[in-house]
Amino acid sequence: MLGRVVKGARRNIDELLGARPGDVGCDAGMAMMHAYVELELRGENPIGPYPGIAIHLASCPGCAADHLGLLEAAREFGNQKPG
Ligand SMILES: [Zn+2]
Repeated sequence: MLGRVVKGARRNIDELLGARPGDVGCDAGMAMMHAYVELELRGENPIGPYPGIAIHLASCPGCAADHLGLLEAAREFGNQKPG
């Protein structure tokens, strides 16, 4: 019983550490997030130029939440050009 718990915990840690191949990780993901969202807003596919971010967003709930928040904020305010 304990062995099963430990095995599950270890898999979660691997996911937290971004063990998936191609995953850019949290820091790089956040650094490129604005460019990624900009492509989405333009109706282009951001997964082509930024596949590592797409992989990371699928595996990191924290960054996925940040990405959604950024996308919603950009959709709400992005069309308002200053001046
Ligand atoms: Zn992340």
